[in-house]
Amino acid sequence: MKRSTLLAALLVGLAIPASAGAADVTAVHAVQRDLALASTFWAVEQPTLVSPCVADQVLVTTMQDGIGDGGALIPAADVWAETALGACSIDIAPVAWALGTSGDSGTSEMFCVLIAHEYGHTLGLPDTESIPLMSSSWGRRDDPLCDQAVYGWRWTLHKDREWIAANRSELRMATIERKARDAAASAQVSASQPAASQASASAPAGVTQPPVTPTPTA
Ligand SMILES: [Zn+2]
Repeated sequence: MKRSTLLAALLVGLAIPASAGAADVTAVHAVQRDLALASTFWAVEQPTLVSPCVADQVLVTTMQDGIGDGGALIPAADVWAETALGACSIDIAPVAWALGTSGDSGTSEMFCVLIAHEYGHTLGLPDTESIPLMSSSWGRRDDPLCDQAVYGWRWTLHKDREWIAANRSELRMATIERKARDAAASAQVSASQPAASQASASAPAGVTQPPVTPTPTA
């Protein structure tokens, strides 16, 4: 499978649809997979962080202007995702959703990495260069679990295979714990419908911009 997808080429010609309201895509299979991978990744990388959320919600919605590095204002049109720190709701821009669900491997992985990054915000992590996946730069963001899920082990990058191999037992434990948590959460949610939405109306702190330049991963 070809790895070097040129995101810029895909972005050209894609207009952001004028959307009315937010679409809850939490239940979409790919979103569930990416949330599970994100949870597992962070359980291995930052085991002391505990999600404050019973369940995470993913919404496709129009973006607000955001705050970027150094407090600079980022216009909404340049934002792909927004998640307030410690919130349980991840907002995805329609353009990022369209790319992530287009069926293309490169953009599927990009979307998975995007979810993993935003999931970091739900755990309270800010955008920071000290944690590669929380970097503002797409070139530094890497989630080996996304690589493996999208491309399969045979095509997984060497460095990502090494991370997976080095963390085998941690990954197994994280997966077991996540499944137990999910089971408890679904029991809790069904017992207390409707689940309270924590979508915040305040200015989001964690915003993700599209890659400025295509970043081939191979
Ligand atoms: Zn961010």
